[in-house]
Amino acid sequence: MKKTLITGGAGFIGSHLCERLLNDGHEVICLDNYFTGSRNNIVHLLANPRFELVRHDVITPFMAEVDEIYNLACPASPVHYQFNAIKTIKTSVMGAINMLGLAKRTRATILQASTSEVYGDPHVHPQPESYWGNVNPIGVRSCYDEGKRCAETLFMDYHRQNHVKIKIIRIFNTYGPRMHPQDGRVVSNFIIQALKGNDITIYGDGSQTRSFQYVDDLVEAMLRMMATPESFTGPVNTGNPNEFTILQLAQTVIKLTGSTSKIVYLPLPSDDPKQRQPDVRLAKEALGGWEPKVQLEEGLKETINYFKKIV
Ligand code: NAD
Ligand code: UDP
Repeated sequence: MKKTLITGGAGFIGSHLCERLLNDGHEVICLDNYFTGSRNNIVHLLANPRFELVRHDVITPFMAEVDEIYNLACPASPVHYQFNAIKTIKTSVMGAINMLGLAKRTRATILQASTSEVYGDPHVHPQPESYWGNVNPIGVRSCYDEGKRCAETLFMDYHRQNHVKIKIIRIFNTYGPRMHPQDGRVVSNFIIQALKGNDITIYGDGSQTRSFQYVDDLVEAMLRMMATPESFTGPVNTGNPNEFTILQLAQTVIKLTGSTSKIVYLPLPSDDPKQRQPDVRLAKEALGGWEPKVQLEEGLKETINYFKKIV
């Protein structure tokens, strides 16, 4: 049994990770400031004596005795991370410093939930970990992209300078139950619009692509990454390499919901990446043959069932 700390544990991905670690018999401290997360996401875990919930903001230091830290605290959707851009940078950078300090003192292994956004609007396709990216440092997405890039730098420097045991994973678009209904991400937006019979809002002409990973596949990759040998730090991409245009996604959601919604086209937000597909060869090799198991239609059905209950 390990003592684990999950920052951002009451969020979409964090809540699934809390659940999985408890099911595997570990102790979990779930730390969250509830900016985008919610106690509803983890209310079913509260009765478990191995589960502890703490309201805390990662921009201030946190003390606890732990073996493993999963650092997920950070708003993840463009709508939420642009709401208070300066706070987003503070969360990524000061949150990383505080959690790395904790890992240094407790000798815990710490995993950083980094992102495919470190590749920006990529000129290399699909994106391998060796690609340094094409990121605008002064655009509206920069608070998130550069914050996450700086966090990766901090992780590597704490490792090189202080021998902190670190793991970095770069998460590609992930979806599933407990996504925030108002976070404006494409999967939740389209499903909610389809269920309500509202127009499906495609930004741009819908030819931009994304590769969608179901949350259970990500959680499996995170646990496998944490269990890799100490010398292995990553970064490792985790995502589903099946790539879809946003128009294809809209059509699939309409089909699966049986919706009568119409597709409408709205302006493309600035710096919106044109394509994104993970190169997952390293993940397969380093994470014991890991590969995504849940394909888009199956994952969308689970997510649609979830949103049917809350919409
Ligand atoms: P989410 O918004 O549901 O979860 C983030 C959680 O962090 C929320 O519970 C929020 O309240 C909490 N949080 C935010 N700022 C905080 C702070 N200052 N102190 C403490 N808690 C704070 O988003 P998610 O999709 O679950 O993302 C989790 C992590 O995974 C994030 O770090 C995100 O950058 C990363 N990620 C997600 C995706 C994706 O597609 N979902 C892709 C790449 C990376
Ligand atoms: N998108 C869209 N309609 C929406 C929400 C998003 O067409 O209602 C597009 C968005 O412009 C982007 C893609 O879907 O090209 C993925 O957007 P999301 O915010 O989910 O994630 P990210 O851009 O961070 O990959």
